Amino acid sequence: MKGMFCPSCGSTEGPFFKGLCKKCFLAQQHLIQVPAEIKIEHCKQCNRIKLEGKWVEQSEQALKEFLMKKIKLKELQEAKLSIELEFLDGNTLAIVGASGLLEGNRIGLEAKTLFVPVAIQCNDCTLLSSNYFEATLQIRFLRKAEEKEKQAVLHKINELLRSMKGEDMLASIVAVLDKKNGFDVLLASNNAAKRVVKALSAKTKERVKRSSSVIGRDRKGKEKKRFTYCIRF
Ligand SMILES: [Zn+2]
Ligand SMILES: [Zn+2]
Repeated sequence: MKGMFCPSCGSTEGPFFKGLCKKCFLAQQHLIQVPAEIKIEHCKQCNRIKLEGKWVEQSEQALKEFLMKKIKLKELQEAKLSIELEFLDGNTLAIVGASGLLEGNRIGLEAKTLFVPVAIQCNDCTLLSSNYFEATLQIRFLRKAEEKEKQAVLHKINELLRSMKGEDMLASIVAVLDKKNGFDVLLASNNAAKRVVKALSAKTKERVKRSSSVIGRDRKGKEKKRFTYCIRF
């Protein structure tokens, strides 16, 4: 090492990497690369964010996992990565740290990414705000039911939907309509409706009556259907 100097800045301080001092080498080589800024779609209504094409609950964990995949490292051996998040008026600053061995010397690197939210209404919220529904649950009582009994069934439906909400945003009641001998529940998601029917019908003796009608076609020409389930207690 004696007599070595950095051709770029003249420094004589080692260690040297490929002939350059550490500072110049790191500045030139960009051993850690992350996008300087990433725009993240954010739905103000449900507060979810869109990561890799999917709407997910906001969490530090989700952001970190997403950013991890975007970090590019060069030449560093036995690299360890860390991400710290700082929240600054609406934006989120991610500080990425990497430590590892470069030609036998342990070095630390840092890079920053700014997450900038872009306000947008997600597809599910758009559907829900337009009173979209895929299924009708017809809840009927074979004998005259008391209000209390009706409320208990509605409560059960709400409970079931709440447990599905994490994976199916459309597991929501669009409307409840009073009917003779019971009530109708309009549900945005038919998948959720099917699960509610399954849970409720486990306790009824009468078979569930199912029907469907075609209400149009989607952009690909596939039939769009609306489903009706009649559950009798
Ligand atoms: Zn230098
Ligand atoms: Zn939304």
